[in-house]
Amino acid sequence: MAFHRPLLLATALLAAATGAQAATVIRGARVIDGTGAPPRDDVTLVVDGDHFSIVGPGLRVKMPDGTRVVDYTGKTIIPGLVSDHGHIGLVDGTKSGQPALYNRDNALRQLRQWRAYGVTTVTSLGLNNADVFYPLRTDLHAGKAEGADLFGADHGIGVPNGAPPAKMMQAGTNQLDRPATPDEARAAVDAAAARGTDLIKVWVDDFNGSLPVKMKPEIWRAVIAEAHSKHLRVAAHIYYLADARQLVDDGVDILAHGVRDKPVDQGFIDAMKQHGTWYIATLDLNEAAFIYARHPAWMDQPFFAHAVQPALATQFADGAWRDKVQNDGSTPVNEAALKTNEQNLKALYDAGVKIGFGTDAGATPLRIPGFAEHRELALMVDAGLTPLQSIQVATQRAAELLGLEDRGVIANGKRADFIVLDGDPSRDIEATTHIRAVWQRGVQVSGSVDTFTP
Ligand SMILES: [Zn+2]
Repeated sequence: MAFHRPLLLATALLAAATGAQAATVIRGARVIDGTGAPPRDDVTLVVDGDHFSIVGPGLRVKMPDGTRVVDYTGKTIIPGLVSDHGHIGLVDGTKSGQPALYNRDNALRQLRQWRAYGVTTVTSLGLNNADVFYPLRTDLHAGKAEGADLFGADHGIGVPNGAPPAKMMQAGTNQLDRPATPDEARAAVDAAAARGTDLIKVWVDDFNGSLPVKMKPEIWRAVIAEAHSKHLRVAAHIYYLADARQLVDDGVDILAHGVRDKPVDQGFIDAMKQHGTWYIATLDLNEAAFIYARHPAWMDQPFFAHAVQPALATQFADGAWRDKVQNDGSTPVNEAALKTNEQNLKALYDAGVKIGFGTDAGATPLRIPGFAEHRELALMVDAGLTPLQSIQVATQRAAELLGLEDRGVIANGKRADFIVLDGDPSRDIEATTHIRAVWQRGVQVSGSVDTFTP
């Protein structure tokens, strides 16, 4: 075995050196591979085109001339993060609720920010303008546009006079369907399927009682049956345990938010496991509603500042805005929701329920692409997951939720999407914020976020 790996490496390098594109050898780094395995020191990674061709223990063989060698001694490498729940084209600075914001340039601005922060794959979970979304997805899949790779849930299916709230997300009719009958719901699913959607989204919530109606079970049952007949999976926006339980029993595939009104019970846990339902906690969402008004110390760090557009930074510095948020009746509700969400995540994780990764970043101006995902990792550790467990959820498991077998871990044959960090996040999750470089498809696409302009 001792001779086996160096021989393999030399063969691969020679093959690459005589091919169209020389391989890159990355050596010296500690690697956290995304599987939950402990870090390995001094790992050599060979990047051949857009994927890893070799991942092995420290190897020292003579490199063919022309081989590019990158030395990351002292750094830690983790896979690029995968978001199962974000949104593109809904916000810009402090602006939101304007269908005109859903344009290619604005979406790419956000996707570049996600990528600079190490989130190399993003799922825009509904409210997508198909005319913009699908060409953009095609270009990003092909590496013909700069930003996080993109998947999505087409328009998504809401409720007439209900969720998502029209005043919060003023979506155009080309971004959202609000079917009134099961027939209309099936037609909406068929249209999304015909456009080539990755997933179907439904909104089942009354936004803390602020909306007069919730989606009727007959509508979501029609959506789930029609989607499954087209081999599409359904992700549901939920808040309450009772709605979540009913959806799980009715065969929904993904809960796109955590349960936040009460602790999950054993019956719910059993149902999640029996159906194999995925769970995305979105812990950052409720914290983002109040935390910036308190100005925690991390808001003064470059890692945060470089994710915040100027208009939003001005709002965060505005004393009147901060007082308004601090005194708003929604703040204690959001604090309690975060706490319940953390406790439920820990209970479901420990029970072996399938956990995905997402933040709902991009849905409102306070949910900040890139920053939100690192904050989510920190909150998962607050909730009681270990750093390695949290990283596995945000990489391997998040890719599994999307059915992507080509990414999410650092292993032979997988896409070379990865983040180079100063420090070791298996010891302190905060180290994921110390980004030295981001690589996507085998190419370094950015350095420290200190050079990023939002
Ligand atoms: Zn969302």
